[in-house]
Amino acid sequence: MKTLAIDLDSVLADTMVLWAEEFNKRKKTSIVKDDIVSWELSETFNIPVKEISQIFTDIWQLRWDEIPPTEPDISYTTKVLHQNGYRISILTKRFRPSVANVAKWLDLYDVYCDDLLFIYDDRPKGEYPFDILVDDAPVNLMHIRTPRKGILYNQPWNRDFIWPTRISKLIQLTNLI
Ligand SMILES: [Mg+2]
Repeated sequence: MKTLAIDLDSVLADTMVLWAEEFNKRKKTSIVKDDIVSWELSETFNIPVKEISQIFTDIWQLRWDEIPPTEPDISYTTKVLHQNGYRISILTKRFRPSVANVAKWLDLYDVYCDDLLFIYDDRPKGEYPFDILVDDAPVNLMHIRTPRKGILYNQPWNRDFIWPTRISKLIQLTNLI
């Protein structure tokens, strides 16, 4: 059975929607997710990297149940992908304190998965066992070589990255893999 690895933040969980909201609250600004067109959040919004991660940590810690899914039907779609013969592996790099709430979030949205892998260090995702990886971060896909597949999930910050296989909706995977 082939393994389909799916990233969590910005592929299943639309974390940056709430990140932007929390940022606005703290900075009295009015940015939205679509304004985040680069990875250099620190430069774009003129805030220290530490503060960027702090907002991440805080929303997963304190407002995890307000983080919306990227798509309304992630439960159905993950089940369909599994029924199509894939092991679903959720592969997410994050700080240790958010782990419990991530598990709760996946239950809240009834996301199907066969395993859940938390990466705490800088081990590249490409070193984990999967046949296909869906991720919004080009850096996680760059070193994946055939026959393995890297599929980019469209987000405003990866628009300019040249990559052959992109999707806007997870259900599109059923035609690609
Ligand atoms: Mg991500």
